[in-house]
Amino acid sequence: MATNRTFTMIKPDAVKNGHIGAILEKITASGFNIVAMKYTQLSKRDAEQFYAIHSERPFFGELVEFMTSGPIVAAILEKDNAVDDFRTLIGATNPEEAAEGTIRKLFATSIGENAVHGSDSDENAAIEGSFHFSGREIF
Ligand code: UDP
Repeated sequence: MATNRTFTMIKPDAVKNGHIGAILEKITASGFNIVAMKYTQLSKRDAEQFYAIHSERPFFGELVEFMTSGPIVAAILEKDNAVDDFRTLIGATNPEEAAEGTIRKLFATSIGENAVHGSDSDENAAIEGSFHFSGREIF
């Protein structure tokens, strides 16, 4: 059964390009409540661990370098059907394939530097949320 939480990061490209405010506005206007949020920067070790599932993929080194290149905004979002609805809101991994009006269509620059992360399952949403937040940081 779908739970009501997902995890997101506003990635270093979108932070550098000044899109934090616009992205948070789009997220809240789409009915998501922010239940945890922080402005932080991933270490190399954090990024390697977070994206461990992709460690054998050819883009892994670039992905880790990119994700550690500057600050990010990490957040846990709450809404009915959060994981699927948030994946719809962010659009396809490659912004060229993302639907009109999606966050990646609006703010991403490439398949790698694609503005936002969104968990792909309830299980990963829980793992990723607890990677970044302790129980007392979630409201
Ligand atoms: N990525 C990349 N090159 C690729 C595919 C993915 O750099 O060919 C990066 C991109 O930042 C993506 C992340 O790796 O968001 C994780 O990939 P995944 O396939 O899980 O996409 P997502 O779930 O983020 O849409």
